[in-house]
Amino acid sequence: MHQLTLAEIARGLADKKFSSEELTKVLLARIAQLDPQLNSFISLTEDLALQQAKAADARRANGESGALLGAPIAHKDLFCTQGIRTSCGSKMLDNFKAPYDATVVAKLAAAGAVTLGKTNMDEFAMGSANESSYYGAVKNPWNLEHVPGGSSGGSAAAVAARLLPAATATDTGGSIRQPAAFTNLTGLKPTYGRVSRWGMIAYASSLDQGGPLARTAEDCAILLQGMAGFDANDSTSIDEPVPDYSASLNGSLQGLRIGVPKEYFSAGLDPRIADLIHNSIKELEKLGAVIKEISLPNMQHAIPAYYVIAPAEASSNLSRFDGVRFGYRCEDPKNLIDLYKRSRGEGFGPEVQRRIMVGAYALSAGYYDAYYLKAQKIRRLVKNDFMAAFNEVDIILGPTTPNPAWKLGAKNSDPVAAYLEDVYTITANLAGLPGLSMPAGFVDGLPVGVQLLAPYFQEGRLLNVAHQYQLNTDWHTRTPTGF
Ligand code: GLN
Repeated sequence: MHQLTLAEIARGLADKKFSSEELTKVLLARIAQLDPQLNSFISLTEDLALQQAKAADARRANGESGALLGAPIAHKDLFCTQGIRTSCGSKMLDNFKAPYDATVVAKLAAAGAVTLGKTNMDEFAMGSANESSYYGAVKNPWNLEHVPGGSSGGSAAAVAARLLPAATATDTGGSIRQPAAFTNLTGLKPTYGRVSRWGMIAYASSLDQGGPLARTAEDCAILLQGMAGFDANDSTSIDEPVPDYSASLNGSLQGLRIGVPKEYFSAGLDPRIADLIHNSIKELEKLGAVIKEISLPNMQHAIPAYYVIAPAEASSNLSRFDGVRFGYRCEDPKNLIDLYKRSRGEGFGPEVQRRIMVGAYALSAGYYDAYYLKAQKIRRLVKNDFMAAFNEVDIILGPTTPNPAWKLGAKNSDPVAAYLEDVYTITANLAGLPGLSMPAGFVDGLPVGVQLLAPYFQEGRLLNVAHQYQLNTDWHTRTPTGF
């Protein structure tokens, strides 16, 4: 039963082949048996899950239906869950039980989804390897000596290991797409504003966006449907109707114009990944797509701009964690300044402290113009590159990452080496565009992702291209040995 996708689960529940309660019990047992190898969960919510599963079964018995009614999922541990620890992967929030549900959590619960637990993540979503978590590193089910990607590494490892069919995640600079690539999943970062950020603990507010991680595009469509929509509680939420994403999965790719940026195939890209990307291009050409070389000339400036803007916003967002109202408080503070200093010094890990310092520096009076303002100007140039490209093409395609998943610990001593791995993903966040990563093959037994980017609100187009690709390839069906 653990091999079933969300779409198959929905059919099985509708046909009364099994109940949500049965399925939930199977998956909880599987998590108990296998997760000790992976460390993909921070908290399990067995009681809540069984209660939600029974309620979903009762709703179905009363004639209700819905693709998510009774479907087991998990939430990245930065979505607030009422009365349940919401740690953000940090010692700072280890004792924090959220007083309310995030909009995403509430919407999915209302649709009947069953929450199995909260997944591990890089501390405050800062990282690309899930090694900065206070709760320890997550292992990649494809090779337990390798990282699963980050920051949504727990959600990715759990879904890839078939502990559950899908999970929520967030993407500030690639944290849905990069772990999807590293674990052979399909992951979608929606258009900025498509999914409510209310109750989603902020890292960099102008870049953060929640989205689905699943095995197939079809399942991403189902989960996104439950997550997306206007929310008056989020001032950056966009009041646009949400299309039927599953209905968008039957479009022909005949004549679809795919742009391949020449800058993507530069020296930093592993040539074996380049080969796999070219194979997926050929596959899409067979389906009728037309390939066009394009240019994104400002891409080279994106990493420095992102690593000014994201820490700047983080330094401001994280100032609320001061040991006073909630979160970690140091022992025996001598005075107010001592309380702040030690609570923050002891509560935040090294990567979070590094980013707070970089961000505070970039925003300080003497350096604001030189760093923050400059980075914002680059951000506009990156966006303009995309706008020009989308005048000529419908989709942009390239690798999700320059390298496959690295070994645990390999980049710990050099944070900049990890930052450079974000080169293909962060531009979509700077521009606010939707992006998807899907399985494209393997290098040394480790999965490789191909990334698709589309114009604003064209999530349906991304999902359709990925679905057509997945109808004609079987990379996404491969299962890691031992799981
Ligand atoms: N790796 C990037 C960072 O560390 C992106 C993380 C994310 O998307 N949350 O900032």
